[in-house]
Amino acid sequence: MSSKLKGYAGRFLDVDLTGATLSDRVFDEETLRLYMGGTGIGSKLLYEEVPRDAAWNDPRNMVSIASGPLGGTAVGGSGTISIVTKGALTGGATSVQANGLIGAYMRFSGYDGVIVRGASSDWKYLVLKDGKAELRDASPILGLDTYETTDRLREMHGAKGREASVLSIGPSGENLARFAGVFVDHGHSASHNGPGAVLGSKKLKAIVAFRGGGRVDVHDPKKLTEVAQEMYKDVEYFRGTIGGVANMYRGAKGDLPIKNYMTYDWGASPEEVESFTEKSIRDRYQVERMPCWGCRLLHSTMMEVREGRYKCHVEEPEYEQMAAWGPVIGNSDVEAAMMLSGLTDRLGLENNEAGWLVGWVMECAEKGYLAESQLGFKTGWGDVEGAERILRMVSSREGFGDVLAEGVKRASEKVGGNAADCAIYTLKGNTPRGHDHRTRWSEMFDTCVSSTSTIETHMGAMSPQSQGPANPMLVSGEVARTKGLMQLEDSVGTCRFNTRMNAGKLAEAVSASTGWDMGAEEAWDVGRRAVNLLRAFNLESGIGPELDRPSTRYGSTPVNGPTAGVSIMPHWDEMLSNYYALMGWDERGIPRRETLERLGIGHVWAGIKGL
Ligand code: SF4
Repeated sequence: MSSKLKGYAGRFLDVDLTGATLSDRVFDEETLRLYMGGTGIGSKLLYEEVPRDAAWNDPRNMVSIASGPLGGTAVGGSGTISIVTKGALTGGATSVQANGLIGAYMRFSGYDGVIVRGASSDWKYLVLKDGKAELRDASPILGLDTYETTDRLREMHGAKGREASVLSIGPSGENLARFAGVFVDHGHSASHNGPGAVLGSKKLKAIVAFRGGGRVDVHDPKKLTEVAQEMYKDVEYFRGTIGGVANMYRGAKGDLPIKNYMTYDWGASPEEVESFTEKSIRDRYQVERMPCWGCRLLHSTMMEVREGRYKCHVEEPEYEQMAAWGPVIGNSDVEAAMMLSGLTDRLGLENNEAGWLVGWVMECAEKGYLAESQLGFKTGWGDVEGAERILRMVSSREGFGDVLAEGVKRASEKVGGNAADCAIYTLKGNTPRGHDHRTRWSEMFDTCVSSTSTIETHMGAMSPQSQGPANPMLVSGEVARTKGLMQLEDSVGTCRFNTRMNAGKLAEAVSASTGWDMGAEEAWDVGRRAVNLLRAFNLESGIGPELDRPSTRYGSTPVNGPTAGVSIMPHWDEMLSNYYALMGWDERGIPRRETLERLGIGHVWAGIKGL
């Protein structure tokens, strides 16, 4: 790459843990313009360098952890990284993001990203500081939870406050729980599909990156600041997602997930519902703001339950955490939900999978599908202490926790019988985000057709008319139309709450950063390229269109509430055909040659044409 290219630190760090070797990896300008960074570069690396027969825990698997050309700039929330790897739940691609400071600090330390491959024989952590990288012995931090790891590493390196950013795995990742995530600066998680388990299999406990004195030169700082300010004006109203449970319950659309999709009735009193509102939570528990790099929004604060059974110090839980540890498990105590949210992050588990898992265990225990002797104790709806016990068992793989640590799909198949039909997951093996998607058809459809183990599109597909059941083809059409926007966002190194995946604005910002003259369509194609690469990677790995579906319970029909008796499933095949066609894929969901060639990735055709 030309050293004159603005907007980039100029190199990735390639870490081979097998031989404990570190080397620089430099991409030329043409490659960076096609893939940018984050998800784009990660998808290219995954497709080109990970053998299809390599399992998630095979040393030949790779983890790409990368920022992009907006990382560490004036754009709000530009400390974000995207992680791409072959995940532990689906055995296919995953692309997940965490915010915080790490993406900015990696770049200030001289690296646009880190590529991790191989596997170490003993635990290591990686230090990035002032243009240098070093692997160190991780034994002093082994067994620590994600919060403790962050604090201990900052202390060990004499970093005060925000001088260093830490990405880590918790005990769950060390013990290879399949839905272990990666956590940044305490509670920012990149977790779907087990990237923490993959890092655990490689014995990499953490990455520390320092603020130092470095910076990334951009082409036109004034213009970039102007675009960043315009973006901020569009989102300054945002106050996080923490009040989502109360909002959705009061909205009464049927999209709040209650008792593992069993009912529309949460059973919370009006006072309990009020305690889940954003205002109530902030007034009672917020203690300190902990913004990510460059972010001015009211989000990411530290919260404290100061006394009582559920005393805890947690980073502001997201809606999905409050849903998992509230209505999904039949709990209406807000402090218990906050405690379980914090515990899940500390143990290093993916929150949604954990919530669906505990909800499934509780339903099966109540119905007698799971024997008390099997689990080791009695549990049922709203059993907060039982939920805590299950999380700890999963994290340590103790007792029946060893089965549960395999994730919802595998655990339910192992228990079998009626229990198998109660589990919420996609046939690829991942679980959805924390809503009742039976009334949010676009999200259920997108979750099931996704190649990354979580939704691939957002916002556009959430428009009211696309929520079904009025027009199923509009739902699948919207999902197809908006594909690539999220992957663009995840390739530039920013937080989607700040930039809202606005391709035009992102293109302007990237142009100001790099000096390229890039329009919205060219930028959007960066995302579409990643979508097609990940789809092809999965197809070549044996993850075919027959898995673009929900499990029995996930695709079930609501028994009460506003969409009682209405199901997406009668429309599924037609929606799928519509989606494949609009994506430029054939009737089996295989990208067509002309689609790949238009995106400049015609070489992919050789890998999928014979499928
Ligand atoms: S909106 Fe929240 S997650 Fe995004 S950058 Fe700001 S504080 Fe971080």
